[in-house]
Amino acid sequence: MAPRSRRRRHKKSSSSVTPVVVTPPTVVTSVPLTSSKPGPSIDALGFFSLDNNVPGLSHLILQKLNMKSYEEYKLVVDGGTPVSGFGFQCPQEMFQRMEDTFRFCAHCRALPSGLSDSKVLRHCKRCRNVYYCGPECQRSDWPAHRKVCQELCLVAVDRLMEWLLVTGDFVLPSGPWPWPAEAVQDWDTWFSMKRLHLDAALDAVLGSHAMATLWASVGRPRPDPDILQGSLKRLLTDALSRPLTLGLGLRSLGIDVGKTGGSIVHVVGASHVETFLTRPEDYDELGYMFPGHQGLRVIMVGVDVATGFSQSTSTSPLEPGTLQLGAHRGLYHDFWEEQIETGRTAHPDLVVAFHPGFHSSPDLMEAWLPTLLLLRDYEIPTLITLYSHQELATSLQILVELDTHITAYGANPFMSLKPEQVYSNPNKQPVYCSAYYIMFLGSFCQLDKRQLEGKVDDEV
Ligand SMILES: [Zn+2]
Ligand SMILES: [Zn+2]
Repeated sequence: MAPRSRRRRHKKSSSSVTPVVVTPPTVVTSVPLTSSKPGPSIDALGFFSLDNNVPGLSHLILQKLNMKSYEEYKLVVDGGTPVSGFGFQCPQEMFQRMEDTFRFCAHCRALPSGLSDSKVLRHCKRCRNVYYCGPECQRSDWPAHRKVCQELCLVAVDRLMEWLLVTGDFVLPSGPWPWPAEAVQDWDTWFSMKRLHLDAALDAVLGSHAMATLWASVGRPRPDPDILQGSLKRLLTDALSRPLTLGLGLRSLGIDVGKTGGSIVHVVGASHVETFLTRPEDYDELGYMFPGHQGLRVIMVGVDVATGFSQSTSTSPLEPGTLQLGAHRGLYHDFWEEQIETGRTAHPDLVVAFHPGFHSSPDLMEAWLPTLLLLRDYEIPTLITLYSHQELATSLQILVELDTHITAYGANPFMSLKPEQVYSNPNKQPVYCSAYYIMFLGSFCQLDKRQLEGKVDDEV
């Protein structure tokens, strides 16, 4: 099937700089602003909401990326070809432009264009991640910034190192698991299992020509090897978090992947994060989690599914041990009506939504409601992920009010370990993708609301 051979992150030719990389705001902060939302205009709302914290920031981003409009930006994020003047002459220019999109005073929110000629924005010497228009702002900001400075230091390294994934210079080490899958319950055991193979692979990346070029281009000193190795490991958990979280759902909800004909997983509210930025090979890891499975089909469904990601929801029989990725562009409840109720596509064995965000606004709740009710009423095993403990608590409450039967929730053992900066508000505590999960199956809740609240508080 076509998507398996399609690589979103391809090796760049030596002379050109691929436009794939230049999407810093949403890549760096997929946080509450963007992505996995079913409503058609939500992404645009998220992009322009950057201006709520830093007036003019959305304009600065478009300007620095040589783009005229949000539509053009979106086109590139979705994998289309940009219209005009887009692309960079050399890596130095690209990294410079990317860095420029972070250049605003973290305290008074001033943009470079709003400063007098004698003033320039200077970064915090410790984290190199936030900027200040002068010593006064930096001093006043320190009480807030000190709480996140160390974590933002990691963010600043990770967003440069991510380039190696985009270009294909850092290929995730993959292969069948040498340990029984039951022994691998979290990242600690995963890293122990992979240790020998992984150390050699990471050393090779650290010593590579690409790594040398990267640090020669970014205008800051190359950090120590242990810092770079830590960053590669965080990037690795970020890329594999989604497939392994699907595996967690299959495991915890007791889905029999050994059944004849294979198993089907739908990723609902999928966006460019799950499609444009995903290397299909990353999903091999899901297969290794279930040796002896009878075939796995993962279909991404969402209005923001990237153009070019396989628009296929093939119904051909699955071969034992194979994994197929597909996608459908549209709202899930429409997909259900058109594809599933008509019998064109089989019922899913598991539905997963990464950061649906329905707790965050009435608009999003309205967009998600038909899907949530459908999953409840058809008793589809469902897993959703959340960025924070607070989101966990509010989302649980909503799901209880919808009378869903919550079977499990808590900290995700396969969360991404890469901190995500809240782009337009850098002193906000960084968050981690899929840090928490909730699973539900059908209706009727066993726990009443008060018990639930008590349990959440105990747990974290
Ligand atoms: Zn300032
Ligand atoms: Zn700092």
